[in-house]
Amino acid sequence: MAKSPKLEFDVGWDLSPAPESTDHINLKGQYDLFINGKWTKPSSGKYFKTVNPANEKVLAEIAEANEKDIDKAVQAARKAYVEVWSKMPAAERGKYIYRIARLIQERAREFAVIESMDGGKAIRESRDVDVPLAAGHFFYYAGWADKLEYAFPNRRVHSLGVAGQIIPWNFPLLMAAWKIAPALATGNTVVIKSAETTPLTLYKLAEVIEASGIPPGVVNIVSGAGETGAAIVNHPDVDKIAFTGSTGVGKIIQRAVVGTNKKTTLELGGKAANIIFEDAPLDQAVEGVINGIYFNQGHVCCAGSRLFIQESVSDLVLRKLKDRMESLIVGDPLDKNTDIGAINSKEQLGTINHFIKTGKDEGAEMYQNSCSLPDKGYWCRPTLFTNVSQSSKIVQEEIFGPVLAVQTFRTIDEVISKANNTPYGLSAGVWTDKGSKIFNLTSQMKAGIVWANTYNKFDPTSPFGGYKESGFGREGGLHGLKPYLKI
Ligand code: ADP
Repeated sequence: MAKSPKLEFDVGWDLSPAPESTDHINLKGQYDLFINGKWTKPSSGKYFKTVNPANEKVLAEIAEANEKDIDKAVQAARKAYVEVWSKMPAAERGKYIYRIARLIQERAREFAVIESMDGGKAIRESRDVDVPLAAGHFFYYAGWADKLEYAFPNRRVHSLGVAGQIIPWNFPLLMAAWKIAPALATGNTVVIKSAETTPLTLYKLAEVIEASGIPPGVVNIVSGAGETGAAIVNHPDVDKIAFTGSTGVGKIIQRAVVGTNKKTTLELGGKAANIIFEDAPLDQAVEGVINGIYFNQGHVCCAGSRLFIQESVSDLVLRKLKDRMESLIVGDPLDKNTDIGAINSKEQLGTINHFIKTGKDEGAEMYQNSCSLPDKGYWCRPTLFTNVSQSSKIVQEEIFGPVLAVQTFRTIDEVISKANNTPYGLSAGVWTDKGSKIFNLTSQMKAGIVWANTYNKFDPTSPFGGYKESGFGREGGLHGLKPYLKI
């Protein structure tokens, strides 16, 4: 377990461990596929292991779905769509979605602990962000189910059919909620695949779905890696693909659906800029930067991985930032004091370390928190680079880790052009006292989301999505209904 670091303003004690109990967690040793309302053995008989990245212990064995299993899941979803779900009065559909939301709330602690065990994120994130927001999305979209004519006045809307959904490992339960809730509210049925390193909360969600009494086949949950995902994308009877993941895989998917009738939404990578002006509330801004890149280990596509500080306050902001970094506690994800948990997998840690080495090789200056790291598991200290240029790899490429690249600027035009100079366009943050500057900047930033004097704030009613290589389509809010409808 990591000790809390010694601070300049040392309070003279270390925080005692405050681990969240795992007594109430009920995990099976093996999980089968959830198809047509039944736990189904994979036709290949193959299982893979899911590991706790904080201690490298195996948590469970997980079924690997192949083309045959995906076909079974799609057929079940089609049958449920034709025979039950598309015929059901919308208000009835809404009731099931409400029920799922309430059941997630009832089992919130279990979901949060399993999310942290399987994914490595700090319990305060999974408990305070992932799980409440997941329930919130089901509540929100349950409300829309019987009000689609108000969502799209004077238009006729129709569901698409079977939605194939593929999600990443950074927010497993939340990404599932983002995708399943609007699909169901608009009358579609679902085949969803978890990421290979984080399958557990989706199978817990399968238990909730079972308990909700929703008709069999309306939601089918499968697991496996890229080949399983490709089997969903290429299945001829899938009407819609919703994908969140890397830009590389997003491009493969886009090529695969060309010439088909499949509707697609892609939510891909990002390289967000956080911009601090000299008139900003600096302590608040520093906290926002920390929240944007270090909490969550930088594992969010909208992570504020580039920081631009106005030159007149850059020394001061950097000093404040380094002080705050030093106070961050890295360690056991289940400890309620932990700010930063484990990196999701050995592979991801390897990628992050490769970028850190590249940053040093390119001549950037590195600063890291000096805390000790646990012996077992996959860990990365919060890391900051200064002396970087616009062309540095660590400025241009998505790292997906707790690594921040810091640059300075003098004028607003300069920072806008620097911030927009990336292949991505997902999110950005601006910190200033002046409303006019906020409006000027938000209208010129090529980003789907711009936060002002805050960062990483999510709400089921707000749409989320990007431009350029960050993908297209919106999830969340009223906009999130559209990709699941013919209008
Ligand atoms: P990340 O870098 O976040 O792991 P990936 O794009 O590799 O992003 O993975 C996101 C999701 O896409 C995972 O569920 C993964 O299994 C799935 N996936 C990977 N390759 C493919 C593919 N060729 N077709 C469909 N899904 C894929």
